[in-house]
Amino acid sequence: MPRGVEKGSAKMSSGARDPLFGTMMDFPLVLPQILERAARIFPKVEIVSRRPDKSVARSHYADFARRARALAAGLLASGLRRGDRVATLQWNHQFHLEAYFGVPAAGAILHTLNLRLHPDELAFIIQHAADRFLLIDDVLLPLLEKLSSKVHFERVWVVPFSGQPLPAGWESYESLLAGAPADFKYPTLNENEAAAMCYTSGTTGKPKGVLYSHRALVLHSMNMTAADTLAVSERDVVLIAASMFHANAWGFPYVATMVGAKQVFPGPHLDGESFLDLLASERVTLTNGVPTIWIGVLDALNRNPGRWKLAPGLRELCAGSAPPEALFRGLDGHGIELLHAWGMTETTPLASFGRLSPVMRRRSPDEQYSARAMQGREAPFVNLRAMAGDQEVPWDGCTLGELHVRGAWIAASYYELPEARDRWTEDGWFRTGDVAAISPDGTIRIADRSKDLIKSGGEWISSVDVENALMAHPAVKEAAVIGVAHPKWQERPLAVVVCREGVQPTPDELREFLAARFAKWQLPDAFVFIAEIPRTSVGKFQKSRLREMYSDWKWES
Ligand code: ADP
Repeated sequence: MPRGVEKGSAKMSSGARDPLFGTMMDFPLVLPQILERAARIFPKVEIVSRRPDKSVARSHYADFARRARALAAGLLASGLRRGDRVATLQWNHQFHLEAYFGVPAAGAILHTLNLRLHPDELAFIIQHAADRFLLIDDVLLPLLEKLSSKVHFERVWVVPFSGQPLPAGWESYESLLAGAPADFKYPTLNENEAAAMCYTSGTTGKPKGVLYSHRALVLHSMNMTAADTLAVSERDVVLIAASMFHANAWGFPYVATMVGAKQVFPGPHLDGESFLDLLASERVTLTNGVPTIWIGVLDALNRNPGRWKLAPGLRELCAGSAPPEALFRGLDGHGIELLHAWGMTETTPLASFGRLSPVMRRRSPDEQYSARAMQGREAPFVNLRAMAGDQEVPWDGCTLGELHVRGAWIAASYYELPEARDRWTEDGWFRTGDVAAISPDGTIRIADRSKDLIKSGGEWISSVDVENALMAHPAVKEAAVIGVAHPKWQERPLAVVVCREGVQPTPDELREFLAARFAKWQLPDAFVFIAEIPRTSVGKFQKSRLREMYSDWKWES
């Protein structure tokens, strides 16, 4: 009997029928399946990578699959053991895609390092994960120099991303691939073993490691092809703009390879204009990114209307923090459909999707926009609930509770961090730290991260609601609202605002603009105007930094 064809036996000793007998093949959901099918079915589909000098390298799936296989073989020939962590310090490009598939295909764990972290934080993560090998872009070698006294990799292979000759004294990635034996066969993999690993980007504390199983990555990819999520298909040209070191680039490299979509990688340039150049030249139909990227894109489009000829029906997946409603409206005006999802590093990451239901599609445009700015409904095989203490709050659209999640691609623990066990409930849910309300149709609305909620005189103010309303003001480019200590009210909201070029609204004007939507006690007591809101390593507004900056703020009495 071939292995895995029949499970169990027809009769159990009690005489009862074994429920596992004679059903389906036990066919593992593992990444090499995606890679090998892509090589067979889509060999000529293009893969485009933009280099640091903005020149473009073109390749195709047959070449990518051959090289990913050679990477797996080369690593095994270099002494890689099952479950070893292989780290990458790389931008978004084809070589990184090769690692996304080649490392797990060898039975090892791809650990994508966030190259924007402070070197001390990076060193902590590398030591904690006990990374054994490293693949690094040649242009990032100066970063490795800064780590050299703190971390040790057994082998380092340098990837020729700049297209320049390899600096002296380093082992080349190409030599690793060239050393692969021709008769290489994939090791047999279990779908529940780890394929990849990522640390949280540390917005709210020390980075914590999450291990992704092959099965989770495959199911997450399958889900992204559904019409009611992202409908990713072979007809798409996918530009992977979310960093490949941020939560698996939100699953885009895996799903794009699974469906055989043309893939486009932007390298290090993600300002509005460079991004638009690539969207237009490659006729991109689907991309992803945090809201700040899209604020930059919208600004560039508004300043240069008509400059870029974008593919009709371009969709952009926005997640990572709450996109303001004004962003949906603004991008619609340029023919770009903003899709909205919610997720976390711990949820692989996409767990809910903001597609409008048929009922909602019959409502007014304003109602549709406010629905699109919510975080959508749980994906199949993901469950969400909002809790106040140990009680689930009603799905009434307004009662807030802490969002809990469980499901087929939700982490069951952090890597080697038993002290964080209390992030999971006794009954098996993950406590997200987000505060949300759930509507009767299951749509979630994230009010805030619990750490960002503003506590004013015993009432809670959602910083997200206020800043998103502010970003609808025509003179406001970016806004973040934080709670600052207050002698009487405990905390009061302070709005930090970046104005559009050449305009300067007054605080009174902004307060009046908000007064139409909020009760008086919810309005910011002060507005400060700055040139740029600090960003986290993955481009979100860094509210912890803002709180530090304004920690000795004195309220006018
Ligand atoms: P970090 O916690 O370091 O920022 P993650 O990228 O994993 O790393 O962040 C996940 C968090 O991002 C969520 O808990 C939530 O607070 C926020 N988030 C993600 N998507 C959205 C969204 N669509 N709307 C509002 N907040 C979001």
